[in-house]
Amino acid sequence: MKGMFLVSLLLVCNIVFSFSPDSAIVSVEKIEPKPAMVVWDINDSLYHIPSFDLYCGFDQTKIWGMKVDQTKKKDTTTIKLLHDSCDFHSPWIGRLTSEYGWRNNRPHYGIDLKLSTGDSVQSVFDGMIRISRYSASYGHVVVIRHLNGLETLYAHLSKRLVKEGDEIHTGEVLGLGGNTGRSFGSHLHFETRYLGEPINPRSIFEINDSSFTIKEELLMLNASHFTFLKEVRRIKYHRVRSGDSLWRISKKYGVSISKLCRLNGISRKKTLRIGERLRYN
Ligand SMILES: [Zn+2]
Repeated sequence: MKGMFLVSLLLVCNIVFSFSPDSAIVSVEKIEPKPAMVVWDINDSLYHIPSFDLYCGFDQTKIWGMKVDQTKKKDTTTIKLLHDSCDFHSPWIGRLTSEYGWRNNRPHYGIDLKLSTGDSVQSVFDGMIRISRYSASYGHVVVIRHLNGLETLYAHLSKRLVKEGDEIHTGEVLGLGGNTGRSFGSHLHFETRYLGEPINPRSIFEINDSSFTIKEELLMLNASHFTFLKEVRRIKYHRVRSGDSLWRISKKYGVSISKLCRLNGISRKKTLRIGERLRYN
């Protein structure tokens, strides 16, 4: 499985004995230490990688990683967020500029916190870096798998200071705030996820302009934490084709033109582009 193979340097001093056929002289040649690949077996991974058993691995190919539909969650999972006060640190304390939920008729799966480019962004809990890369939408982004089973995402950074596979401790700086990717102005986009599914950070944290604290010591996670996601998944879209008009789309789905305009934040005079998606419910 990709991502399970971590390289460490094993220093081995090899000594080669060579014999000259013409004489019985023995020469000793010392060879430089070589790096050796150490492959973690399942027991190593279970021991070293946070929540490896819960996620059945440590997917380093996808930013959101493995997804398990939580909107149909039947049980309640108790997540212990705090053992003592130093188990948590705010990622950054800044004015909250955008909430989790609908934003311009699009889902926003995190919160935005105002910062200045170059400000330090810190890990909220102990964990291991699952993703540290550049993405067209998130810009420089870091995703951390935590010991408590949650994952947190920190986006639009100007600089990443951690590598995939690194261990990180609560409050350790993972990068510097910025304005990279699909971002208009320096800010931190911060997400909390469980098994690949987003949770409103406000369900976990008490967030004010001057403080960012844990709400409760325990998070009792159930389907109610994923109602927004359920709503998002019920939405249907029409892909605009040649010859389409708002009138034609409204007739096709039995929706008024004014509702189509409201759902998509457009005017009646908008020129439709082939291939664009229009929400119709
Ligand atoms: Zn955002």
